Amino acid sequence: MDASNSTHVACPHCAALNRIPSARLAEDPVCGRCGQALLDGRPLALTDADFERVVARTELPVIVDLWAPWCGPCRSMAPAFEQAARELKGRALLVKVDTDANPHTAARFQVRSIPTLLKLQQGREVARLSGAMPAAQIVRWAGV
Ligand SMILES: [Zn+2]
Repeated sequence: MDASNSTHVACPHCAALNRIPSARLAEDPVCGRCGQALLDGRPLALTDADFERVVARTELPVIVDLWAPWCGPCRSMAPAFEQAARELKGRALLVKVDTDANPHTAARFQVRSIPTLLKLQQGREVARLSGAMPAAQIVRWAGV
C-alpha cells in the first residue's frame, strides 16, 4: 500500500500510531497494538492529558466539540453531535472536550463561549463555529 493511500490515526486508548488504508477507514479499524476501536463512529472524549497526542498525529480532519456539563445548549446539541459522528465515520474524527475539566485545551484555543466547534487539521485550527446546531449543519460545516 502506497503511503498516499493510507492515513495515520493515533489510538486514543494506547497512543500507538496506526496506518490505515484510506479505503478501509469506515470499516471499523482497530488499533494494531491494543486491539481497541480507532474510529467507531462515536464521539471520543479527550482530556488535557491526551488531546494533543491524539489530534496532532491523526491525519483525518478532527472536529472538536468544546462543551461543559452546566451548559444547556451544549447538552441539547450532544445528540446532534453523536449523529454527525455516525455520518462522518471514516471521514473525520469527532471528539468532545469538557472545558470545565480540561481548561488547558479551552485556553489554548481561546474559547470564549460554548458550545464551540473547532475543525483541526493535524492539530491546527482551520475553522471555528460557535453556538448549538443540528446534525446536518455540523456535517455540512465539517466539509469532509
Ligand atoms: Zn491502541
